[in-house]
Amino acid sequence: TCGICVEKCPFDAIEIINLPSELDEEPTHRYGENAFSLYGLPVPESGSVTGILGPNGIGKTTAVRALAGEMVPNLGNYDDDPTWEAVLDRFRGTELQNYVERVRDGEVSIARKPQYVDQIPKQFDGTARDLLEATDERGALDSYIDRLDIGPVVDNDIETLSGGELQRVALAATLARDRDFYFLDEISPYLDIGQRVTAARLIRELAEDEDRAVLVVEHDLAILDLLADTLHVAYGEPGAYGVITDPKSVRNGINEYLKGYLSNENMRIRPEAITFEEHAPRETTKAEPLVEYPDLAKSYGDGEFSLDVESGTIYNGEVLGIVGPNGIGKSTLAQLFTGDLTPDMGDLDFALDISYKPQYIEIDQPMRVDAFLSSITDQFGSSYWNTEIANPLQLNRIMERNLTDLSGGERQRVAIAACLSQDADLYLLDEPSAHLDVEQRVQATSAIRRYAENHDATVMVIDHDIYMMDLLADRLMVFDGEPSIEGHASKPQEMRDGMNDFLSDLDITFRRDERTQRPRINKPDSQLDREQKRAGEYYYAE
Ligand code: ADP
Ligand code: ADP
Repeated sequence: TCGICVEKCPFDAIEIINLPSELDEEPTHRYGENAFSLYGLPVPESGSVTGILGPNGIGKTTAVRALAGEMVPNLGNYDDDPTWEAVLDRFRGTELQNYVERVRDGEVSIARKPQYVDQIPKQFDGTARDLLEATDERGALDSYIDRLDIGPVVDNDIETLSGGELQRVALAATLARDRDFYFLDEISPYLDIGQRVTAARLIRELAEDEDRAVLVVEHDLAILDLLADTLHVAYGEPGAYGVITDPKSVRNGINEYLKGYLSNENMRIRPEAITFEEHAPRETTKAEPLVEYPDLAKSYGDGEFSLDVESGTIYNGEVLGIVGPNGIGKSTLAQLFTGDLTPDMGDLDFALDISYKPQYIEIDQPMRVDAFLSSITDQFGSSYWNTEIANPLQLNRIMERNLTDLSGGERQRVAIAACLSQDADLYLLDEPSAHLDVEQRVQATSAIRRYAENHDATVMVIDHDIYMMDLLADRLMVFDGEPSIEGHASKPQEMRDGMNDFLSDLDITFRRDERTQRPRINKPDSQLDREQKRAGEYYYAE
């Protein structure tokens, strides 16, 4: 097998597929006999942003520890004491030579942003300002606080901040350092699209204007595309070995990744390609309405936040995407539908069974994954359930683990499975992409889509990953307004109108990659950006 498929090759191409190079190449680092091995290394470059695209558990942290000089890679000789001279010999004549020399000479200093920002409150006592002031080595703090909109919470205790606020504080704290090499392990979790784009711009400015080397891991492909100059694709067998390819242009790297085939390496990393529709899906004849709801209103407390919802119809068997900035009322609407909240105006008198996956997942029971899931569905373990749910969500490897021991991405996959495994009229998923790596997003997207198609099930999905939304949704509900103050939800719209409505608010246009038709964010004020804004076409080409 080539490491992707568990059994025999399902497509007749095995002879043109290389086996991952574990067999014939020496690793960069091996932790021990039969332990994880890393092949290749990313190449940080001053003045530029280098991306890594690939699953978790593939050796990114190992690579960064080597690049930061915290660990001398052993080149596979785990019994010997490794030396930088040997590493230099290995990389002499490659793009890494210069960098490795500087690491050997102790000349590289590093700043890093951790992947799980939720852990920060456990490690730091004090306000956001205390944290930021301690890291402000370049005198850039005020500008970061302003552009990342941290001002309203900067004097609050770190432990009271939301995920999105922590993410922005962590970014500011990392970027404000005065170092040679910056490593950012995911910037997008908990951020809405506007915040993701701002974060990407700040990182680019740091690399370009200050001539720093930046390495990022990012699973939101539209953002990675905007952020990185060059890209390493990482593949392999998470936990067993990982291969980091030579650098590719960011455009080619993402295109090859989506195609599922790396040309230089002659390596297939996925059986089928991921493709995007160039044109907005045609208006289809609608199935039966599932629900028709009236105009709704809901406010909290003394009207600190108020939401109004335009009346609309949700059809049987559709996937309805829900988009909008953070703090605009999306979760509030979800809770109105589930009956957890009662509207101040308008009646939701439908008797629908709703299966709901909230944004913050609470499945912390002392119970194994298999016991938990089999308590939800008697389909558990059937070949049908395995094909539709367990395999695409990669649950088999974690069935025997305890719910309390799962990582963020593992909990997310179990929660999506639990939501889809219930008998319901409407499935409501709040941010299913959170904590998933890029391959898991792809798999989860197709599991949700297929589930909707095969069961004539109606699904509502709230998410910020625009590629995921494009691949998932039949129609869109768009939220606008002023976050934390007032929100407005549109009626469900066709994809073209919905994308235009949503992106014009953000002032972002997308062009199409010539080769793959993949949507790419335009440079602000570029010719295409201006033309498309004039024509009112923010997403789908004419
Ligand atoms: P990533 O950052 O891509 O998630 P890591 O570099 O953290 O991956 O880890 C890759 C693999 O190496 C994991 O399976 C991890 O368990 C293993 N690993 C990490 N550190 C050690 C170590 N000191 N000894 C043995 N295995 C390790
Ligand atoms: P979104 O899901 O779009 O991020 P939410 O619906 O979670 O937005 O929240 C919208 C606004 O309502 C936010 O300002 C939030 O702080 C506020 N809010 C949410 N729940 C409550 C509550 N139970 N009491 C008071 N305010 C709330």
